[in-house]
Amino acid sequence: MSRYFTADLAGLDPYTPGEQPQGEIRMKLNTNENPFPPSPRVAQAITREQIDSLRLYEDPDSALLRQAAAKRYGLAPEQIVAGNGSDEILMLAIRAFCGEGKGLAFPNITYGFYKVWAALFGIDAKEIPLAEDFSIRPADYAHLGRTMVIANPNAPSGLVLTPAQIEEILRANPDDVLILDEAYVDFGSESCLPLLDKYDNLLVVHTFSKSRSLAGGRLGFGFGCPALIEDLNRVRYSMNPYNVNLLTQLAGIASLEDEDYFRACVDQVCDIRDKTAAALRQLGFIVTDSRTNFLFVRTDKMPGARLFDRLRQQGIVVRRWNDPLIADWLRISIGTREQMEQLVEIIRGILEE
Ligand code: PMP
Repeated sequence: MSRYFTADLAGLDPYTPGEQPQGEIRMKLNTNENPFPPSPRVAQAITREQIDSLRLYEDPDSALLRQAAAKRYGLAPEQIVAGNGSDEILMLAIRAFCGEGKGLAFPNITYGFYKVWAALFGIDAKEIPLAEDFSIRPADYAHLGRTMVIANPNAPSGLVLTPAQIEEILRANPDDVLILDEAYVDFGSESCLPLLDKYDNLLVVHTFSKSRSLAGGRLGFGFGCPALIEDLNRVRYSMNPYNVNLLTQLAGIASLEDEDYFRACVDQVCDIRDKTAAALRQLGFIVTDSRTNFLFVRTDKMPGARLFDRLRQQGIVVRRWNDPLIADWLRISIGTREQMEQLVEIIRGILEE
């Protein structure tokens, strides 16, 4: 830290992204990327002509992209804002709906970035404990008097609340916004987008990083009533209006136009996930009922830190946190079928050592 760094941020504990290993790695299963490439239409959309037009600024409102998303999700373009990954949408929302006199609430085990944004913006944060089985209890979110951010499915548990349970939270908090992070919703759970017709305090956030294989493109969306979206744009235009670059806008449209490819990839990931979960349970692992593209697992046979290290020595990178509540758990992103079959065999070997 230099001597010029502002004192009010001196205690900031930044988010630690999953490692992007540079050297030889056998399997990278630590950041929930998709094992399959983006739709072939993405490459077709990025022509020589489009590259030439990079000399111009792109449309700061991502109008064509939002039109394509509106068509796909059955919404109006005014209900949609596009962002530089869903991280940016979440950050804009936390900045827009929290501040003086309005704190933020979120589960004590969830996506680690919520806490960091609260600290960055000087927002009072309240962590709500999960139940022992890692589930979120909707009743714990009644009348908090705070903006809430909930990942559904939650991370890293992979567990899901039903739309009826989300509705319970929305109804109990008519004067507060619920930011619903549906980063993993495409992998077999039910989206709460239909609730937008009934609730003006719901902001649903999606990403193209997971189910649409565009993590490196950085694209996310916020969906809400036009007034909420206008609020996000007010903050966005005060920070970085050109937030979604031209190539990513084109990639997003191309992806939205290839629903068959999207479905096929998601179906495969879910099938590989379920087979891997079954194989790990056979090895004695406790595996949560993850509806995402990752598994959250633990075994009584070996501490989490040791299994993590042994996998790492074999060139396999997964994710683990030092938080005592989950220190023995590993989060394993779903790779290709061959990778996951190999992984199970390698784990079997490690446990037999
Ligand atoms: N929400 C959750 C729950 C996540 O796990 C992630 C991925 N790190 C994100 C949001 C952010 O994803 P992105 O910015 O790539 O859209």
